Amino acid sequence: MTQEQNTRKKRPGSMTIPLMSMSMLPLVLMSLVIAVVSSYLVRMAVEKQVKNDLKNVASAVEVTLDTFYPGDYEMVTTEGGLVFCKGEQILSSHYDLLDRFREETGIEVTLFYQDARVLTTITDPDGNRMDGTGLHTVIKEQALDRQKEVFYSGVAIGEMRFFAYYRPLYNSDNELFGLIGVATPTATVQGAVSSVIWPIVIIAIVGAALAALISVLYSKNLLNALKKMEQFLSQVSRGRLTATLDESVSKRKDEIGKMGISAMEMEKSLRDLIEKDALTGLYNRRYGNSKLSDMWRKASRTGQQFAIAIGDIDFFKKVNDTYGHEYGDLVLKKVSEVLRRNMGGKGVPIRWGGEEFLFIFDGIGKAGGTEVLEDILDQIRALDIYTETGEVIKVSMTFGIVEGDSTRSVDEVVSEADTRLYEGKRGGRNRIIED
Ligand code: GH3
Ligand code: MG
Ligand code: MG
Repeated sequence: MTQEQNTRKKRPGSMTIPLMSMSMLPLVLMSLVIAVVSSYLVRMAVEKQVKNDLKNVASAVEVTLDTFYPGDYEMVTTEGGLVFCKGEQILSSHYDLLDRFREETGIEVTLFYQDARVLTTITDPDGNRMDGTGLHTVIKEQALDRQKEVFYSGVAIGEMRFFAYYRPLYNSDNELFGLIGVATPTATVQGAVSSVIWPIVIIAIVGAALAALISVLYSKNLLNALKKMEQFLSQVSRGRLTATLDESVSKRKDEIGKMGISAMEMEKSLRDLIEKDALTGLYNRRYGNSKLSDMWRKASRTGQQFAIAIGDIDFFKKVNDTYGHEYGDLVLKKVSEVLRRNMGGKGVPIRWGGEEFLFIFDGIGKAGGTEVLEDILDQIRALDIYTETGEVIKVSMTFGIVEGDSTRSVDEVVSEADTRLYEGKRGGRNRIIED
């Protein structure tokens, strides 16, 4: 890698990073927000649903117990100790009914006498019923002491965590017996939440990735066009006025395309300023010299024929002296128009200086060039240039033409054309000298 390429690559201020982050950052943030908000909303909805389910199961259990075993909840003292009863029925160790509920709904059911479990479907890790264990003090306070229904989204019972719902259990005389508690493992609910959230998260990620891909491709395309534009302008600024702008930029229909066209027009204007003569619009001597060298190289390589001529307006000083400098300028413009119009694509006219013109006939020899010049001379003779007072200015020209010869230097051939021109001047002007 050359020094220049190196510094160019390290040059600061590239739009790549800002443009990429500008297009990527909102997408990443948006997908994060979608994922977080949707997780939250789904969780809320599922919790609400779970709470309703738990409430319904609690009611169903109560109604079923009342239907099968009418009467009040009671703790009866027997010989074998305290026994949990409802009406006539001993419920202690009578798990069938609650276990049925558990099987059907997956929900654990517990009946409390005061704050102690007297009948429960929940078992410890060894498989023993958790009958006899106590209620968490916070729940006791909130549900039992205040006699309120409560819902928790994370209660530890044994070694597991549950969504749990508790409400007071009353006897017929409205006397508080204890609580009914129903619970479903947090893991089950989380599984349900996950099964809804994952598709949303995946859709959000895939959507964001697709949108990011599109915006990266668009940004790359944009950056590519800007890079090409920057390279073109950099060449123009270094004076390479033959630099070309890639069509992928100039054919764009957007602002960059328009900027590209303006940059190309600017290059053309600069080229005209440098290569063309302001008064006549013909190519100037600077352009003429480089065109001569180009043609020289081409002719010596390919052997293609060419001719060079110099022409000079006759008695031009007299035009200036008689009609003024302005009319001198007008004559120069009119003559230049004739020259430009009548080359027929066979050569290039150049304002060589003052009222002197150089002609490069590329691809045709002296005979072909002479034919073009004869035509031009006829038209110049026929040219009527009017002054404000209606006078007609008539002009003629004298030309010297030589056959191109790449074995001699450009200067020698041009100088020979000049010599012929002056022969023509000496010989009475208004003519073409070709040998
Ligand atoms: P000849 O037939 O021998 O060529 O005579 P001439 O009068 O044409 O030649 P001379 O060299 O004596 O005069 C050329 C004049 O052209 C002198 C100069 O002031 C004038 N001239 C050169 N450039 C311009 C120009 O841009 N505008 C005008 N108006 N005059 C110019
Ligand atoms: Mg002259
Ligand atoms: Mg002259």
